[in-house]
Amino acid sequence: MSTTTTRSRAAELIGTLDTGLFINGAWVPAESAATFTVENPATGEIIATVADGGPADAQKAIQAAANAQKKWGKTAPRERSEILRRAYDLIMERQDDLALIMTTEMGKPLAEAKGEVAYGAEFFRWFSEEAVRIGGDHTTTGDGKNRILVTREPVGPCVLVTPWNFPLAMGTRKIGPAIAAGCTMVFKPAELTPLTSLALVNILVEAGLPAGVLNVVTTSNAGSVVEPWMDSGLARKISFTGSTEVGKILLAQASRNVMRSSMELGGNAPFIVCEDADLDRAVTGAVAAKMRNMGEACTAANRMYVHRSIADEFARRLGEAMSALTVGNGADDGVQVGPLVEAKALEKVEELVADALERGATVITGGGRPDGPGYFYQPTVLSGVSPDSAMMDTEIFGPVAPVVPFDNDDDALRLANNTPWGLVGYLFTQDIDRALRLGAELEVGMVGLNTGIVSNPAAPFGGVKQSGLGREGGRVGIDEFLEYKYMSIPVVG
Ligand code: ADP
Repeated sequence: MSTTTTRSRAAELIGTLDTGLFINGAWVPAESAATFTVENPATGEIIATVADGGPADAQKAIQAAANAQKKWGKTAPRERSEILRRAYDLIMERQDDLALIMTTEMGKPLAEAKGEVAYGAEFFRWFSEEAVRIGGDHTTTGDGKNRILVTREPVGPCVLVTPWNFPLAMGTRKIGPAIAAGCTMVFKPAELTPLTSLALVNILVEAGLPAGVLNVVTTSNAGSVVEPWMDSGLARKISFTGSTEVGKILLAQASRNVMRSSMELGGNAPFIVCEDADLDRAVTGAVAAKMRNMGEACTAANRMYVHRSIADEFARRLGEAMSALTVGNGADDGVQVGPLVEAKALEKVEELVADALERGATVITGGGRPDGPGYFYQPTVLSGVSPDSAMMDTEIFGPVAPVVPFDNDDDALRLANNTPWGLVGYLFTQDIDRALRLGAELEVGMVGLNTGIVSNPAAPFGGVKQSGLGREGGRVGIDEFLEYKYMSIPVVG
C-alpha cells in the first residue's frame, strides 16, 4: 500500500473502534464523561479520544466481574477453550488491521506489529489447548486411612494491568489463561496504547465471551482505577506487567487483601559474547535482542559484555549492522526502526547517552536524534562504557547498545549478576560445557543461548530477583490463575 493509503486506512480503522469503557458486556462512557487523547508517536498527531475512567467506573467494573464469576467458573472447559480458539482465528484473520492500529498508536514498524499480533494470538491458541487439560490428583494418606482428592479451581476475579510496549500480547498473555482457568477480569490497558486492546474486546465478544467476564476501563490516571480494584475486596488476584517501581506499589496494595500476585517487571539483560562465539550469530542476535520494539522491551539486551579479545571487532560489526537499519514512520514500507513511544522516553535515552559520553564512552554509530517530528532516536552503539554509567543499571528502553569488555568467565558473571534485576540473559559461546556452566550461574529466569529472542507462548516467561513473581505462558502459565483445593475423604470399610 502507498503511504497515503496506509494512513487513511489507519484512520478509517481507528474511526470504527468503540472507545468507551466495556462494562458488563456494554460500551459505556465514563461516569464523569471525561475523555483523553491518544497520539501517534511518529507524527505527534492525535489519532483518537477514549473514555477516561475513574473510581466510580472502576467500582462498576469489578462488581460486574464479581457477579459473573460464579457462573463463568462453572462453564465447561471445552466452551472456554473454543471461545479462545475462535478469538485466535479472528485475530489472525484481522492481523493486518490490528497491526496497523498498533503501529499507529505505538510506533513499531508494521512488520514487527504483525509479528506481535501473531505472537499475541498464539497465547489464545495455547491456552485454548490448556483449558481442557486442567488436572488434579488423587492419593491416599501414608497410613491408608484417608483419600486425598485434589482439584484446581479458578482463583476468582482478576485485576489485569498492562504496559504500552506490546499492546496486544501483554493483554492476551493474561486474558488467555484467565479465560482458560475460568476467571473473570477487570483490565486496564496502558494509557498510551489503549486502541489495540479496545479492538481485542470486540473480537472476544464475537468469539462468544459472555457479558461481565472481561471488563475494560481505560484511564489517564491508573491509580484512580486500579487502587479501588485492589481495595474492593472482590478481586482475588493481580497480574501486572510494567515497571518494578509500580509493581512494588501494587504488591503493597495486594497485601491489604492478601491477593495472589503475578508480576512481570523490569529487566537489565546482560548479553555475553565469549571469545569462542560465532561472531555472525552474535551480531545478528545482538541486533534482535537490542532492536526488537526499538529497544522498548523488558527483554532488551541492556548491557553487552564482550570478551576483550573480540570487543572492538564486535562493536564495529554491531555498529555496521545497526547503522544499516532504516529509521522512520513504522507505517511506511521498508522501515525497520520506529519512534520511541513519547517525548519523555526520548529525553531519558538522550540523558543516558550524554551521561555515558561524559564518563568516557565512544560513539561507534548513532548517538543522537534525527531532525523532524516524532520521537525518533538513531540506532546507537557505544564502546568503552564505564561501569558507573547510569545506563548500566537503568533500563535504557531505547535503541542504544553499550559494549563493555570482560577478561574471563568469572568477570562476565560478576558483571552480569551485579544488578537487582533478573529477567533474561543472553549468552553466545560454542562450548557446550561453558554454556551450561554460565547459563546455570546467571541469576535470571530465562537464558537465550546463541539467540537474541526468548519470548514464546509455549515457554514460561518471567524473572527472578526484582524482575518479578510467577510465569506467563508455557505449561505453568495457567497455574497463576488456579487455586488448589483438596478434600480429605476417610476410607470406609
Ligand atoms: P512503563 O514505564 O512501561 O510505562 P509503568 O509501570 O509506568 O511502566 O506502566 C505499566 C502499567 O501500569 C500501565 O498500564 C500504567 O498505566 C500502569 N500504572 C502506572 N502507575 C500505576 C499505579 N500507581 N497503579 C496502578 N497502575 C499503574
